[in-house]
Amino acid sequence: SIVAELENVTKRYRDGSIVSRLLGHGTTTDALIDASLALRTGECVALVGRSGAGKTTAARLIAGLETPSSGTVQIHGESVGPVTERRQELQAAVGYVFQSPRSSLDPRRTVAQSIAEPLFGAGWERPCRQPRVMELLKQVGLEGYQNRYPRELSGGEAQRIAVARALALEPELLVLDEATSALDTVTTHRLCSLFERLGRRDGRSMLIVTHDFDIARRLSDRTLVLADGRIVDGGSTNALFTEP
Ligand code: ADP
Ligand code: ADP
Repeated sequence: SIVAELENVTKRYRDGSIVSRLLGHGTTTDALIDASLALRTGECVALVGRSGAGKTTAARLIAGLETPSSGTVQIHGESVGPVTERRQELQAAVGYVFQSPRSSLDPRRTVAQSIAEPLFGAGWERPCRQPRVMELLKQVGLEGYQNRYPRELSGGEAQRIAVARALALEPELLVLDEATSALDTVTTHRLCSLFERLGRRDGRSMLIVTHDFDIARRLSDRTLVLADGRIVDGGSTNALFTEP
């Protein structure tokens, strides 16, 4: 079945200051143009392309973090619109990991508090949150880290904590948005082992946004290529990367 889907989606951003917009001098950018893609249960899909191609825009749309200018976005078969009442619940169906772990973790909160935040938001009671936090720490290989602060974590560790938080509500889809771009080669390699386990082995759907073909090759079953806001190529990752 289909976990999340974009159908003929265009996303237009209005640029410029509020004043220039009021004066009618504002310009627009079509970050994504007439894009259609569907993520099936258990499928790991890579979204590749140059900087500015529209990868993050597509990923944020599929996670319900943005609304389309035209076309439809469906998560769990439900349309996500600006006025969808269940928008928050739909967003909980998707875990999102950003490029920079440090900016996504609150420096004043302990690791346990950061991971527990979505649980708190979803109404989990305190006695249920604590064991779930411990379980998540174990899942990302950081048992015993619950009382640390972000400044006490390496880049790779901080990213694992961001992954634990993204997994807190057991999303069907995990979006990794350049999740290893800020990390060194060895750390990237280790983190990819975790992603392989979370994706292929645990049967979770993943959308992997990356400009790194090695990561696409390692983690995805299918690759889509974006250029200037359009999906210009796509197919099985093996086929795409073994062509002459
Ligand atoms: P990628 O992830 O492939 O680097 P993005 O989706 O971030 O691409 O950006 C696609 C295009 O949309 C770029 O031209 C970018 O400048 C523009 N863009 C992205 N976000 C915004 C925004 N919030 N406001 C205006 N323009 C944006
Ligand atoms: P609260 O705001 O509920 O009093 P805290 O601010 O102490 O709780 O922590 C927020 C969440 O982080 C709690 O719901 C708890 O589940 C979790 N948490 C805090 N400290 C720990 C810890 N040492 N081990 C595991 N989980 C913790």
